[in-house]
Amino acid sequence: MTHTLLYNGLLFDGSGKPPRLGSLVLRDDRIEAVGPTGAMPTTLDGPVIDCMGLAIAPGFIDAHSHSDLQVLDGRKEKLHQGVTAEVVGNCGFSPYPTGAHAGDLREFANGILHGDETWGWESAAAYLAHLRASSKFASAYSLVGHGSLRVAVAGNRQGRLELSAMDKMEQTLSDALTDGAVGFSTGLMYAPGSSAPADELERLCSVVARHDRIYTTHMRDYGFHLLEAIDEQVDLARRSGCRLQISHLQAVGRANWHRNQLAIERVEAARESGVDIAFDCYPYVAGSTVLSQLLPQSALDGGAAGLLARLADPLQRKRLAEETIAGMAHEWTDIYISAVRSEANRIAVGRNLAELSIARGQEPIDVTFDLLIEERCAVNMLEFNQSEANLRATLSHPLAIVISDGFYVSGRPHPRLFGTFPELLGSVARDKQWMPMAEAIRKVTGFPADRFGMKDRGYLSAGRVADVTVFDPAQIRSRATYEDPEQQPQGIRMVIRAGQVLFAEAEAEAPAPVA
Ligand SMILES: [Zn+2]
Repeated sequence: MTHTLLYNGLLFDGSGKPPRLGSLVLRDDRIEAVGPTGAMPTTLDGPVIDCMGLAIAPGFIDAHSHSDLQVLDGRKEKLHQGVTAEVVGNCGFSPYPTGAHAGDLREFANGILHGDETWGWESAAAYLAHLRASSKFASAYSLVGHGSLRVAVAGNRQGRLELSAMDKMEQTLSDALTDGAVGFSTGLMYAPGSSAPADELERLCSVVARHDRIYTTHMRDYGFHLLEAIDEQVDLARRSGCRLQISHLQAVGRANWHRNQLAIERVEAARESGVDIAFDCYPYVAGSTVLSQLLPQSALDGGAAGLLARLADPLQRKRLAEETIAGMAHEWTDIYISAVRSEANRIAVGRNLAELSIARGQEPIDVTFDLLIEERCAVNMLEFNQSEANLRATLSHPLAIVISDGFYVSGRPHPRLFGTFPELLGSVARDKQWMPMAEAIRKVTGFPADRFGMKDRGYLSAGRVADVTVFDPAQIRSRATYEDPEQQPQGIRMVIRAGQVLFAEAEAEAPAPVA
């Protein structure tokens, strides 16, 4: 048995209450005591860490991550931000079940999960066992992705599925929740999940309700039909009885900015009427996803091959161009290419579609289509979606959990992958003062722990798992920018997961030795 004493710091307990000076005693993998320094035992058999001038918080929880594969690889981007737990399997993408269509599953999910051509687990149980054996840093919790579930059962095809396929999806989801998945996610802007009829979603959400887990959704629309999309999800939660978490709530595109406040009011009204609803958001005005999101998702029936065949047909290409342009809430200058597959197109990374239009001497819509053809659909984008005022309203709302939504790409990732948590605490809470520091910490500790059923994490209280992040509240800041995202943040001093020190600052900022 080993004790660790974190001595005389500013304790943020994860509840949002103002901090108080005190100390924390860890014993093995648990928190043993927390309170005023004078009340703590003075003779302990382990290390004493002086936290004078530093904040002591529960380890941060990234409740919306796409690191399903990278948590197995020991990547350190989240650790360096103070993250000790992640929820993966978001927006309909989980790396299981493979079913009879493992190749289709990889093609469907690789734009978000950034995997190779070999990954895939037959069940939640198999994936979770691999997680337990291999995840070095964050403790990962997994949602069952609806898109993955559908591809496993029926391949990458759209529309209503036969009854036997529906039964199979229902049973597989139920098994996954029994085996330890924490909930179910949909990605209703991504084919083929986008084509699921209402009764399919209701049947699956009823399974979630029966297991008393959470349902998270990347909704059908965040632009012109944002409010209808919220209504659809609220209605689904009401009919099925499941808890509802709206993913990355925002109004996309200048033409829709006025809808942000209306969206928040819709959520509040639903909550008042008895739906257990909350939402998450990342602390950036830009978002990121696959380039094919600009197109109507019906064009992706049959996966990448289906889309490429349609684009090869002049009449269909013309029709898709008209539909894509009509559906856009963005300007072409708002959309930047963030990753491509080929070396030849690497020059497009970091440039927006208006710039590429000039460089290539083509209309922006033709640049979009031709990039998808040249890269066999493997193109990611970064889109400037929101206004600063809307971001503030959403982030600071009491129902908002703050998340990274980060994912890896072969190119230039969104800075949220490297900077979300220091950005929230440094820029959003301390510098802009959009919310008190204690409230910012609640949004990444106690609140997500409660929401996702992590009963022994999220708070500094005796008996909980010893996940602790120590940081300098005056120094903490993200250094990740849109131009240069892969930067380690400043001000994180120590990260402890289950009593183990996984990161200490010396490792962080030590300059490379000069040869
Ligand atoms: Zn999403």
